[in-house]
Amino acid sequence: MLPGSPEEVAAVVGWCYAHDVPVVPRGGGTGLTGGAVPTEGGVVCSLERMRGVRELEPALWRIYPEAGVTTRHVQRLARENGLLFAPDPGASEQSQIGGNVATNAGGPHALKYGVTGAWVTGLEAVLAPGELVQLGGWTRKDVTGYDLKSLLIGSEGTLGVITAVRLRLLPAPEAAIALVAFLRTRAEGCAAMLNVLAAGIQPSALDFLDGETLQIVAGSYPGAVPPEAGFALLVEVDGTPMEAETQRHALLEVIADAVVSIDEPVNADVLWRWRDGFNGAVTAVRGAKVSEDVAFPVELLAEGLKRFAEIAARHGLRSCAWGHGGEGNVHATVLVDPAREAELEAARAAGEELFALVTSLGGSIAAEHGVGWLKRGRLRSQWDERAVELHEQIKRAFDPKGLLNPGKKLAVLPDGDGRRWPVGERT
Ligand SMILES: Cc1cc2nc3c(=O)[nH]c(=O)nc-3n(C[C@H](O)[C@H](O)[C@H](O)COP(=O)(O)OP(=O)(O)OC[C@H]3O[C@@H](n4cnc5c(N)ncnc54)[C@H](O)[C@@H]3O)c2cc1C
Repeated sequence: MLPGSPEEVAAVVGWCYAHDVPVVPRGGGTGLTGGAVPTEGGVVCSLERMRGVRELEPALWRIYPEAGVTTRHVQRLARENGLLFAPDPGASEQSQIGGNVATNAGGPHALKYGVTGAWVTGLEAVLAPGELVQLGGWTRKDVTGYDLKSLLIGSEGTLGVITAVRLRLLPAPEAAIALVAFLRTRAEGCAAMLNVLAAGIQPSALDFLDGETLQIVAGSYPGAVPPEAGFALLVEVDGTPMEAETQRHALLEVIADAVVSIDEPVNADVLWRWRDGFNGAVTAVRGAKVSEDVAFPVELLAEGLKRFAEIAARHGLRSCAWGHGGEGNVHATVLVDPAREAELEAARAAGEELFALVTSLGGSIAAEHGVGWLKRGRLRSQWDERAVELHEQIKRAFDPKGLLNPGKKLAVLPDGDGRRWPVGERT
């Protein structure tokens, strides 16, 4: 279905609820965990026709786009008005603001500016059995009730359909300086990132590429990659021109001993375009990749990366990793030939070991790409029993029939105890 207004979304959800038909919200379809795929059939409710911007108030630093507005358009409108909308997930030309909220998407600049949810002051959403509600508003402070909007943020379509989003904006930083630091080893690279944070420098982005990733994407790098480089940092600092320059200077001083070389392109956008191409370049090596988006406590990033590489090697797989290092967020990837079932099986086994490693180190098995269908049913591996029960109760309170994006996020795995999730009463 392609509803064009919140009332039409309410009618779709209302009809589905009355007829016991699952409803699957869909944004730009860029999600990496199968969240918008109707794995249990039903109606796909696409928000693509809801592209209006209800309000843009530059003087009040805020914007009110409908759910189907693309991420890039929100970023562009903010920038054209001297403002910043910092969340920058990699597929921003296609992804929608509703999808970003539903997955609580991140991106490189989340390090300084927070993930999408940090920018949301209010949501309009359709909740079961088909009611349009406002959660939150324009106030920056509001403790009159529970923070219901935050329950919908990151809920991946399992609690309601988001139809419009109230976003706060910030004055855009006047200057941003991006640079690439090449280092010899993973250990030195991770230590350098910790040193940057310990020195009190707050980069707007602090991404990393391990040696394998660097090899794969070196050809498209807009400069020269030194042959001895086995790790790289992609760093950006921003602020007033003087603040940016002061931070750049401090940063270079902190990492000076560890680096092989530093590259400082004139235009930061060139670097971020290169960064956006990693996914495609890595996929092209063997025809497919299996990439797990996980997070380690930042001080355990080096250990997590080392042990992930060991896991992949033990399964006979070529691996690489890149991500948002300042947040310990890793896109841990194995390269596979999709025609070889044995490799796919090995990738699945390596993924299971990685998840066990992540939880044993106190990390997260789903950092920014969501849980969707691919990672469903893993709540118990990370959360206490009582917390899992609360999740169950929240899901039932919002969706008593279990019709909102069933089979996703909290849903149990098929080889679990056989229950669907939640155990909803459908009439
Ligand atoms: C090349 C590439 C790079 C990426 N880089 C990043 C990155 O850096 N950081 C990051 O976080 N993600 C990244 N992603 C993942 C993806 O872009 C994000 O998860 C994005 O937020 C999904 O938005 P979408 O509109 O495409 O949502 P979809 O893929 O359409 O849906 C995602 C989930 O949200 C639900 N949903 C969508 N719209 C709504 C709505 N209006 N109301 C309720 N539920 C809804 C769906 O049911 C589904 O469960 C990347 C993806 C690609 C392909």
